[in-house]
Amino acid sequence: MKPVVAIVVAAGSGSRLGGEVPKALREAGGRPLVSRSLDALAAGGVTRAIVVIAEGLLPEFETVLTDSPIPAAVVTGGAERQDSVLAGLEAIVVDPELAAAEFVLVHDAARALVPAAVVARVIDALRSGAAGCVPVIPVVDSIRRLVASGSEIVDRSDLVAVQTPQGFVREILHRGHLHVRERGLLVTDDAAVIEALGEQVVLVDGSRDAFKITEPLDLVIAEALLQDRW
Ligand code: C5P
Repeated sequence: MKPVVAIVVAAGSGSRLGGEVPKALREAGGRPLVSRSLDALAAGGVTRAIVVIAEGLLPEFETVLTDSPIPAAVVTGGAERQDSVLAGLEAIVVDPELAAAEFVLVHDAARALVPAAVVARVIDALRSGAAGCVPVIPVVDSIRRLVASGSEIVDRSDLVAVQTPQGFVREILHRGHLHVRERGLLVTDDAAVIEALGEQVVLVDGSRDAFKITEPLDLVIAEALLQDRW
């Protein structure tokens, strides 16, 4: 069977979380966030992973990844998230086994509590023919837009918040990343990358558990959720 590969991006500074240890190596419920992400991806159907890390952290990540449920290679990322994703895509094409993968998922290591069911929904959408697939959840807060004269309410009924893992036909995502790099476009997520090629993404239900652990409070919430899970 062809592999389903995930690129797990973990090369950000994670400075909003504080602490000495890089964010993806911080623990929730006694297990590093990157390991929890890999557990969820594997449980949802991913068979191989590339973990993209900041320079100089190879020994720390290699130690942590020894108990990964799926083979996980480590590569160095770049200045922007999109550079890190492209580094992951390039690591896939140079490995003949990984290059056989039709689909690739891109996941923020910090969304460590993503349920396996969300991962499985993304993969199912790709198997059903989607070029790209994005998990989303409704926006629960009221939203205001800042304008020159002050601010104005935004109708939230047609807004959704975007999560990861996002899934893609690997070749389209790679082409899209080369396209945005050549044109110097800055994008915040991978769906925008394939949309820049004129491709479309389908939406599937995400989960509030797939929140991005960003600030200290998020780690407290993650600990509480994990106590409830086991
Ligand atoms: O900064 P932000 O929260 O949007 O980062 C989302 C994810 O992208 C994080 O998992 C972070 O580690 C990763 N990232 C990366 N390389 C960068 C910037 C962010 O892998 N240069």
